[in-house]
Amino acid sequence: MSRFKFAGNFGAIHQPEYRRMAGDPNINPRAFRVHFAALGWANQIGHAEFGPGELAQILGIGYGRAADLAANKAVTAAKGMNLILPQSGLRCLVLPHTLFQTGKGSVVCKFHGVSINDMGGSPVVSL
Ligand SMILES: [Zn+2]
Repeated sequence: MSRFKFAGNFGAIHQPEYRRMAGDPNINPRAFRVHFAALGWANQIGHAEFGPGELAQILGIGYGRAADLAANKAVTAAKGMNLILPQSGLRCLVLPHTLFQTGKGSVVCKFHGVSINDMGGSPVVSL
């Protein structure tokens, strides 16, 4: 794997590894794994979209209404810890640009109905 040179206080994460950790039952509380899921799937505007029931499966909770309720409880806990933004939910976890940025992936969120154009245009700044 490549090694990168960064400016300022930025570093990098490997998103596939955070996706794996999101499902690791040994990492608790579950709110931490919600944060990992946000980091693992976030796109260029910091949104990580999931299909119905998908986040509960990713977190290793399972399928169905009880699983979704348990996943939602973990999302609420993650919001309480400020690990994700308040507009996050089961269908989309949102990170602030001060915490996470990437040049890869989509620049829209269908669930929240926002795009990079709603955020003042280009995210590109010189570090
Ligand atoms: Zn979103």
